[in-house]
Amino acid sequence: MISVVAPVHNEGAGVERFVARLADVLAGAGLAYELVLVDDGSTDDSWNFVVAQAALDPRVRGLQLSRNFGKEAAVLAGLEHAAGDAVVVIDSDLQHPPEIIPEMVRRWRQGAHVVEAVKRNRTGQGLIGRVGGRAFNKAFTGLTRVDLVDATDFRLLARPALEALLRLPEHSSFFRGTSSWIGFRRSTVEIDIAERVGGRSRWTFGSLFRLAVNGLTSFTSAPLHLVTMVGLGFAAFAVLLGAQTLIRWIGGDSVAGFPTVILLLLVMGTFLLLGLGVIGEYLARIHEEVRGRPRYLVQERAEHSVVPEQWAR
Ligand code: UDP
Ligand code: MG
Repeated sequence: MISVVAPVHNEGAGVERFVARLADVLAGAGLAYELVLVDDGSTDDSWNFVVAQAALDPRVRGLQLSRNFGKEAAVLAGLEHAAGDAVVVIDSDLQHPPEIIPEMVRRWRQGAHVVEAVKRNRTGQGLIGRVGGRAFNKAFTGLTRVDLVDATDFRLLARPALEALLRLPEHSSFFRGTSSWIGFRRSTVEIDIAERVGGRSRWTFGSLFRLAVNGLTSFTSAPLHLVTMVGLGFAAFAVLLGAQTLIRWIGGDSVAGFPTVILLLLVMGTFLLLGLGVIGEYLARIHEEVRGRPRYLVQERAEHSVVPEQWAR
């Protein structure tokens, strides 16, 4: 049996469309499955749609988080409640084509532990989103050697890979990164990201920036080393310039050099603040981990009748 995990945040009637299309594809391919819909603190009527779908179809279960914890937390909640031998994580807005799932399952049966969907295109994103997303994935891949280029959150994890993933203790999980970091036998399928059918993307520049910073700081300390290296460069520069200034002063010529002072002030000031910022990000990460709060809280469940063991947690 496979579990399909889909986070839902203000998708409204889109939930119905999603469940229907998934049922078409999976039942059509003769696959036994369960669908875990995780309502991530929707403020619209999404949860009512989830409850209705769960009442209609015993394969559908709903999990309502007590507030909006973010997509990463919602996916984790779904993964922890999935009972299948393999789990497929997919967006509920139908931007990830469910038609690919049978192919993912085929790869899994051929021995793959992790099947990733990589995108051929990037629709539904502005120019900045496209360029920014690419730049981030390239930078991430370069700094951490965890390959993220063109990756999506649409993936299949076989039980062993899922168990490994759930053993990671960190709170600021970054599914795309952690599910690559665990390794295991991997396979990729190409997909075309569809346009959003209804509703709109909740990502803003700010939230994407946060995701990028979270992803980076939870995977690599390279930015810290960078600060150190630039600091060392400045130290060498300071010795040279200091020596020159001293020699000039001894020679009685000490007034010139106003541009140097201004430039040094600007460059050093900027670098000091950036460096402090980088350190602050890591400190914030540590602070979050140390607090050790749960990553999500469940408020309500919706299910048909039979309750699998994982569900009783
Ligand atoms: N989502 C969520 N919590 C959030 C934001 C989004 O669970 O706080 C879900 C959303 O319902 C969708 C998926 O995550 O199924 C992807 O969200 P979205 O379409 O906004 O992102 P994009 O496709 O633009 O990357
Ligand atoms: Mg989307």
